[in-house]
Amino acid sequence: MDLVCLDLEGVLIPEIWIAFAEKTGIDALRATTRDIPNYDDLMRQRLDLLDHHGLTLSEIQRVIEGLEPLAGAQNFLTSLRESYQVVILSDTFYEFALPMMRQLDWPTLLCHRLTVNTEDRITDYVLRQADPKRHAVEAFRNLNYRIFAAGDSYNDTTMLAAADAGFLFKAPLNVTREFPQFKSTDDYDTLRALIDEVAAH
Ligand SMILES: [Mg+2]
Repeated sequence: MDLVCLDLEGVLIPEIWIAFAEKTGIDALRATTRDIPNYDDLMRQRLDLLDHHGLTLSEIQRVIEGLEPLAGAQNFLTSLRESYQVVILSDTFYEFALPMMRQLDWPTLLCHRLTVNTEDRITDYVLRQADPKRHAVEAFRNLNYRIFAAGDSYNDTTMLAAADAGFLFKAPLNVTREFPQFKSTDDYDTLRALIDEVAAH
């Protein structure tokens, strides 16, 4: 039995924070862990900015709803699900991702949660566990699934390493250079061919 684990942002949909910053014109929201290496500091800054601009969760979700999956993502995913069980493993938050999951026909998504107060303001975030992608792959392997995984960034590499086969997809050059052990591609057809190839063995 084969199961494919896919990263979400950068693989099937745009980077949510970047796209949100572009849509709203709040430039400071473009910061990533490259600018602020400590994830908690980065998230506090993001939540402060949302609060400062008076954005409620519903308003944020309306903006995210206007985003589109990456070109070709929907067809790739639909076709993949005909041949494999597919689970999306992401470090985003359900509250942000769900408006886009509709466009992907509601695949299974394992990610984190936001804390929202009665005024619809985001006050905090809850990470489900540390290194969640790797833990998910290991858990699925314990259920006797063979796991093929694809992701685009550093937070995917432990998942790729824990899988039976891992691929980099639309990854930046620094990531493909640092992790040459993972085959890398930028297009869905090639990724599908790579998955089918390892699945055939
Ligand atoms: Mg990603």
